[in-house]
Amino acid sequence: MEQRIIDAGKSVLQALETAGHSAYFVGGYVRDTLLKRAVHDLDVATSARPEEVVRLFDKVIPTGLAHGTVTVVAGGVPVEVTTYRMETGYQDHRRPDQVFFVRSIEQDLARRDFTINAMALGLRGEIIDPYGGTEDLRRGIIRAVGEAEARFQEDALRMLRCLRFACQLGFAIEERTLSAIKRQAQSIKYIAVERINAEWRKALDSSGPDRAVSLVCETGLIPYLPGLNRLLADGGCEKEAMLPLSRLSTLVERWAYLFVARGKQEEVEPVLRELRNEKAFIRACAETVALVNVFCQSPDDSKLQLMMLEYGFEKVARAYAVYGVRSGEEPLAVEPGKLYEKMEIKKMNELLINGADLQKALERKPGPWVRDLLLRLARDVNAGQILNEPHALLSRARVVVDEYT
Ligand code: ATP
Ligand code: MG
Repeated sequence: MEQRIIDAGKSVLQALETAGHSAYFVGGYVRDTLLKRAVHDLDVATSARPEEVVRLFDKVIPTGLAHGTVTVVAGGVPVEVTTYRMETGYQDHRRPDQVFFVRSIEQDLARRDFTINAMALGLRGEIIDPYGGTEDLRRGIIRAVGEAEARFQEDALRMLRCLRFACQLGFAIEERTLSAIKRQAQSIKYIAVERINAEWRKALDSSGPDRAVSLVCETGLIPYLPGLNRLLADGGCEKEAMLPLSRLSTLVERWAYLFVARGKQEEVEPVLRELRNEKAFIRACAETVALVNVFCQSPDDSKLQLMMLEYGFEKVARAYAVYGVRSGEEPLAVEPGKLYEKMEIKKMNELLINGADLQKALERKPGPWVRDLLLRLARDVNAGQILNEPHALLSRARVVVDEYT
C-alpha cells in the first residue's frame, strides 16, 4: 500500500488521540503488516462515538453511521473509522440483531473472527493482542477467537473466511476451529450467495488454490455451496482428484481448469451464474473452456492461427495454459506465441479490405458470412497463399464466397 495512505491513517489516529480518544489500526492491516505482506486496506477503530468523529474532521462520509462506521477523508485519502463495538443476537446465523458501542479496544477485539484478525496496532507501534494473534501468526495457525463453535453459530460466513485465510496465508487451521466447521458446515446455507462467492473467489485466487478445493471437501461444506456442489459432485472430492491449480495464474484459468478437469464443460454458465458472477467473467471462463476443447482436438497451425485471429492472442494463450496443465506436457508441436509472431495478420483490422468492401464488391447483403469470409482471407494471407492487397483479396473472395453462404 502506498505510504501516503498509511500516513493518512496515522494522521487520523493522531487527531483522535489529540482530542482525547483512543484509536488503533485493526483487522487485516495489522495482520498483513506484521506478516510483512502487502496491505490493501486500512481500518481504524476508536473510542470516539460516530458523532464525535464526524465533528472532529472536516470531510467525512457517513458510511454506516448506525453501525458506528464513518469514512474520514484525510488528505484526499478515505479512511474507515469505526467506534469500538460489540454485537449480540445473530439469530439468523449471519448478522447481529444489535450492535452497541463500548469503551475499550479489548472489548471490540472480542467480536472479531480469528486471533490473527483480532489485534490492534497503535501509533507508537504498540500491539494489543489479547488472544495470542502474534503467536498464531508466528506458528501459522488460523484459530477462532473464543469458542469456535459459538462463533460460527453467530455468523456462518466465518467458516469460509477461515478457509480463505488458510489458503491465502498458507496457514493450518487449528484443530478445534476445524472440527467446529465440520460440525456446523450445513449452516453456511444461511449466507447470501454473493458473500459465499466473494470468499470463494479469494480462496481460488490465492497462492493455495488446490487447498481451497480440498478444504471445502474435507470440511463437508461442499454440499451446501451453490454451484460448487454440482461442479465437485460425484468424485470431485476424492483424494486422487489432485489438482495443479497453482500452476495457473488467473482466476479465469483456474475456474476453466476445474470445469475441464471435472468433465463438466456444459456446466460453466449455470454454475457461475448460480454463484452470481458477473456476465463478462462468465463469458471469459466459457470462452476459455471452449478454446481448451479445440486444443484437445490437436488443431493444426492454420486452425490455431484462425483461433488467434478470431479471439485474440491473450484468450488463446490462456486456454493453452489450461490445456498444458491439463495434459501434463507441452501439448502441441508449435507453441501459440511462436506461431503468433509469424502471423502477417495478427488482428482483423490489419487486413487491407473490410466488411463493407466485401459487401460492395460481391453485391451481397450483410450477414455472418462477412466475418467468416474475412477470417478465411486473413488465414490465407497468413498461410502465404495470397497477398494482403485489396485486389488479390477481392479476387480470392469471389472464388471462395460460395462456401460462406
Ligand atoms: P482482507 O481485507 O484481506 O480480505 P480483512 O481481515 O481486512 O482481510 P475484512 O473483511 O476487511 O477482512 O474485515 C476487517 C476485519 O473485520 C477483520 O480483520 C476482522 O477483524 C473483522 N471481521 C470481518 N468480517 C468478520 C466476521 N464475519 N466476523 C467477525 N469479524 C469480522
Ligand atoms: Mg480488509
